[in-house]
Amino acid sequence: MQDRKALPSRPELKAAARRRSMENYIARWQERTHGQVNFYLSQVLSGHGCFRQYLKRFGHETEDWCPECGSDIVEDAEHVLFECRRFGFQRQELEEVAGSSISAESLVPRMLEDQRVWEAANSFRENNFCNSKCGETFCDSKGQTIE
Ligand SMILES: [Zn+2]
Repeated sequence: MQDRKALPSRPELKAAARRRSMENYIARWQERTHGQVNFYLSQVLSGHGCFRQYLKRFGHETEDWCPECGSDIVEDAEHVLFECRRFGFQRQELEEVAGSSISAESLVPRMLEDQRVWEAANSFRENNFCNSKCGETFCDSKGQTIE
């Protein structure tokens, strides 16, 4: 007796939807006509950089919480860019360029659609978060270079 092919499970359907979304996203990224990824933007997009959660993971910071927002709020890329009150004014400037509020889901699509949004996102990170101007190396919030 031949096995009938089972219908995909709910997790399989969700995984397939995620895969299609990623394929679409990667295609749009590769076909973009503007936008270079600099050191600071790569930190935002990857979450690997001067964020206390990331730094703590590698023993370069003792705490992962946001010094501005309190001990129950983890300082990661998403918090810094979309939530932290420390960057409210800069976020407002970015949202004015974008023409709407930004979120983790909407920022990169807006950056791909509009070069001005891309440049504003680049400036947000470069001008406002990394106080030590660490260049090509990671640094902690005190401006110390991490080897
Ligand atoms: Zn915060």
